[in-house]
Amino acid sequence: MYIVIEGQDGTGKSTQVELLKDYYQKQGKKVVMMEEPDGDLPQAHDLHDLILSRGYHLESLTNVLLFTAARVELWKKIAEPVLKEGGIVISARNYWSTLAYQGYGEGVSRSKIIRLTKEMLPEHYFKPDYGFILTVPDQVREERQAIRGKAMETFEMKRHDFQAKVNAAYPKIAKDFNLTIVDASGSIEEVFEAIKKVLLGP
Ligand code: ADP
Ligand code: MG
Repeated sequence: MYIVIEGQDGTGKSTQVELLKDYYQKQGKKVVMMEEPDGDLPQAHDLHDLILSRGYHLESLTNVLLFTAARVELWKKIAEPVLKEGGIVISARNYWSTLAYQGYGEGVSRSKIIRLTKEMLPEHYFKPDYGFILTVPDQVREERQAIRGKAMETFEMKRHDFQAKVNAAYPKIAKDFNLTIVDASGSIEEVFEAIKKVLLGP
């Protein structure tokens, strides 16, 4: 089973992915966590650094290619082996992030992003068993980012109009790809319960 939790930085994805991993592990299931685009894979981490941390100001298309390369590495090396054994893969983000940030945000053709991803990754990557989008008001996200203390990512620091485009993108992506929108402004436990309700039924 492949579960994706999508959403902007600071919405609580990593927190929920971790909780879900523990939840399934306690049931004795084989489960692995992925954090796109870097996760626990050094080559993916290096690709992520290249995009976000080296100050190259790469072309938007280059960003799309490098993010896709990181996805291929993560999928082949981390997700596929676990899925083949009937395990569970829980991922923070997938290519919907690239649709939001590079597509809606930076103006790369969305159909180009979809075509490229389809060429490079298998059907299951494209159609997770469950897809969630966590949403919280900007102010709450900013507070959470500040509490977490991690340096904000390059894309998050971009101009306000970029941020507005990404904000507006997520509801459209949810509709186009039939994702479950979860209001993540409640407590960590409340959000977890809302996600579990969808996964396990009421
Ligand atoms: P993301 O992975 O989406 O960027 P994180 O899971 O790292 O977000 O959460 C960002 C910060 O907000 C962390 O410090 C985390 O402990 C905190 N946090 C996550 N979910 C909630 C929540 N529902 N309520 C309050 N704080 C939260
Ligand atoms: Mg995270």
